[in-house]
Amino acid sequence: MRWNLAVIGDPIGHTLSPLIQGKMMERLGVEGDYAAHHVAAAELPEFVRYAREELDGFNITIPHKQAVIPFLDEIDPYAERCGAVNTVCVREGKLSGHNTDGDGIRAALRGMGADFSGSRVALLGAGGAAKSICRKALDCGAEAVRVFCRTPEKGLQLAGGDSRGEALPFSALSAENCGGWADIIVNATPLGMSGFGQDFADFSFLGGGRPFLCDIVYKPAETSLLKAAAARGLPCKNGLDMLIYQAIYAFRLFTGMEFAADPMADFLRDEVKKALGQG
Ligand code: NAP
Repeated sequence: MRWNLAVIGDPIGHTLSPLIQGKMMERLGVEGDYAAHHVAAAELPEFVRYAREELDGFNITIPHKQAVIPFLDEIDPYAERCGAVNTVCVREGKLSGHNTDGDGIRAALRGMGADFSGSRVALLGAGGAAKSICRKALDCGAEAVRVFCRTPEKGLQLAGGDSRGEALPFSALSAENCGGWADIIVNATPLGMSGFGQDFADFSFLGGGRPFLCDIVYKPAETSLLKAAAARGLPCKNGLDMLIYQAIYAFRLFTGMEFAADPMADFLRDEVKKALGQG
């Protein structure tokens, strides 16, 4: 079989998905194409019609992760609770929606020896990625998830009414509230990302304990948050593994192929680092 896959978004020029999925196909000896399509919001219905006829699956990035939901024939329960879909499988013209970001962050944390189960999780940001991470942390048995964000009402919505979720204003980030409280800290804001132009004002909130830290930003490889965490001796990693594992889980959904995720991630990590000039 020759797989016909794609990724859509607006903008889409920056996407690493064709590289990652293409390398995965090569490694597995799978025939196929994985193309990036620039799809503006108004073009989504037309793209979905095309996908039903021509594609076996597609990934979705900003701004379509929510907008695609009304077009789906099925959605898995986790993606439905996230209100966001990043992977759509097409089978005989029927579309099923999934979200692999949560399993991506979980695998990235597992690689550091961290697990949401039984942990207190401090989550910075309340956007799309934060929502997937919050839901996954709660699904996996986190003791508590504390969301730090500029609009606490938005942060509280992330937990979907689960009493283990709470929200504090971003200005309440402190050693007492964050580093000294959490077992795991995840940055899901773009602060420190290349080209974003804004960064954390200070890193004293990392103090007071020995939490694991994952910054889901992966450009640059070492953000100033990661530098500050490393200087304090905290176990930390960037967002590359989350990106790679979400892609691996998407490919498994597209093709139904079962293959070991960790050796594939090792291979892809080297390839992506080379492409990013981080190798
Ligand atoms: P998003 O939906 O736009 O959410 C961004 C969040 O960051 C929002 O909650 C926003 O706050 C907050 N924020 C922005 N500027 C801030 C500031 N100056 N101070 C405090 N909070 C601020 O974006 P997203 O899709 O969740 O992505 C967030 C980051 O994660 C991006 O850098 C993206 O590249 C990265 N990401 C990585 C992966 C991966 O696989 N590694 C996957 C997805 C995303 P408001 O709600 O107040 O606006």
